[in-house]
Amino acid sequence: MQFLYTLRSRGVTDKRVLTAMEKIDRAPFVTDTFSDRAYDDTPLPIACGQTISQPTIVGLMTQALEIEPRHKVLEIGTGSGYQAAILSQLARRVYTIDRHPRLVRAARKLFEGMDLTNITAISGDGSFGLPEQAPFDRILVTAAAEDPPGPLLAQLAVGGIMVLPVGQSDTVQSLIRVRRTEDGLDYEELLPVRFVPLIEGLGQE
Ligand code: SAM
Repeated sequence: MQFLYTLRSRGVTDKRVLTAMEKIDRAPFVTDTFSDRAYDDTPLPIACGQTISQPTIVGLMTQALEIEPRHKVLEIGTGSGYQAAILSQLARRVYTIDRHPRLVRAARKLFEGMDLTNITAISGDGSFGLPEQAPFDRILVTAAAEDPPGPLLAQLAVGGIMVLPVGQSDTVQSLIRVRRTEDGLDYEELLPVRFVPLIEGLGQE
């Protein structure tokens, strides 16, 4: 209850997003060392030197995507799998990619255990997107790039939305929303954020 109250008070107001975040328990996605902090509104360390994002930021990014039930969504940066699990409650199909196979294996196990059958988790370099499943109605990047990666922009459907942090990894970055219209791309700055870097062009770990 306190968890939802915190989300609402920090700007997560979309009912469908709140319902999804109420349904998907964050605790299984958090490592045992930090289990007592699973419902704190803070990012936490996970394996491979990565992080599970702050719940408010997960909520705000999900809300900014304006997902509809018929949508096919691509997430770059599976991490713990928590964000993908939330997306799976809102969209028809979710593809999520991480460059750490160990994280992907752990996330797959959690998805199976929770019967989240509309998520496909893939190991690889997400900066190239997933051309074989493109175009996507929505794309979410949960690691910061200096600029929106070209292949991801190219895989965004007309009418599609991509949300991603942009900026250098050691500074405060901007969360931006990109909409593809018939005429091109519209960019909108949403809020300051801090994410681990999107490692581009190095392939998977
Ligand atoms: N969405 C995650 C969650 O719900 O736990 C948090 C993601 S964490 C902040 C960022 C993730 O991006 C890390 O797991 C990292 O391995 C991944 N990453 C960084 N560069 C990547 C790339 N080029 N392709 C795929 N994943 C990448």
